[in-house]
Amino acid sequence: MQLTTEQLEQLKEQHPLLQELINLKPVVWLNPKRKQMEQVANLPVTFEDVKQAEETWQRFAPYLKSVFPETADMQGIIESDLRPALRMQKRLETYFHQPLHGKLHVKCDNELPVAGSVKARGGFFEVLRYAETLALRAGLIGADDSYEWFATPEAKEFFSGYSIGVGSTGNLGLSIGIISAQLGFHVTVYMSADAKAWKKELLRRKGVEVVEFAGDFSEAVTTGRQKTLALENGYFVDDEKSRELFLGYSVAALRLKQQLQQQHIRVDEEHPLFVYLPCGVGGAPGGIAFGLRHVFGDHVHPVFVEPTHSPAVLLGLMTGLKSEISVQDVGIDNETEADGLACRQAVEFRFRKLRTIDFGRCDS
Ligand SMILES: *Cc1c(COP(=O)(O)O)cnc(C)c1O
Repeated sequence: MQLTTEQLEQLKEQHPLLQELINLKPVVWLNPKRKQMEQVANLPVTFEDVKQAEETWQRFAPYLKSVFPETADMQGIIESDLRPALRMQKRLETYFHQPLHGKLHVKCDNELPVAGSVKARGGFFEVLRYAETLALRAGLIGADDSYEWFATPEAKEFFSGYSIGVGSTGNLGLSIGIISAQLGFHVTVYMSADAKAWKKELLRRKGVEVVEFAGDFSEAVTTGRQKTLALENGYFVDDEKSRELFLGYSVAALRLKQQLQQQHIRVDEEHPLFVYLPCGVGGAPGGIAFGLRHVFGDHVHPVFVEPTHSPAVLLGLMTGLKSEISVQDVGIDNETEADGLACRQAVEFRFRKLRTIDFGRCDS
């Protein structure tokens, strides 16, 4: 959106933190709209949707196990370890000259099998669910059949009649590209300029069409969306709008609950859980936070962490302008080494309703 100097000055007056954001200072913002879970109603997605998403993952587990041998140990469930981070905790205490209360753990989504990032959750889920919908609709499988069918030549032949497109800074493209190509879809990834070269090469090796883009993430998404939707059987995975990505991510909360129980870690009034989530457009941390609030109620405090050069979600939440405002509108450059987080605008997905379940966030 175009802001006049006057409007910008007004925003700064209303939100004193804004000047610090513009100065690229690390800041903490606590969401004043956070609600108690019992006051939360009429959300555009429900906990029932999260549980159904987990069931979808379970149905596809035999398929994933058969096509991605690295998931065999986990019976086709794509999940990462939860590990104590004792040394990191000590280092942080030294760095900040204060004790860190409680215990620090790392949820190792960087090691998620096959796609190697949190995008394995949302991206794989959306494509699997789309494939399932197509196959059921065409009567090629029944709801009770084994999903190993998806690995058959018949399935690949069927999906080759459909195209999937996605705009990405890298990781979403990797996950959508890998799973779509494996299923047999014709898949095109629109990569923004900041995407790493190795990610593009890996995708091309897997038969994915990679369109390189001079602009940033939002431009890659806009062009990708137009080109894909112009195709006859085109389906666009829309990182700025998608409900399915959101639900795919949210399942992480159910898995984390299990892992905490297995490790005898309690979460209750006396033992609140703080979860620090790296944030780009806000879909992954939003989906995970949504699941977490339903699993742990008011005892969990999701904190979104964005690069100081790309504080898109903070800007949208704090000003109330949601996905309308971009970091460049206030003069922030959106250039960061954290390529997966270089997003200038926040996700659009029913933003206003969902912000009430979030806690807040800090920049670093
Ligand atoms: C995409 C991504 C995120 C953030 O997800 P958004 O939905 O863009 O907020 C965080 N970490 C990594 C590694 C990612 O690839």
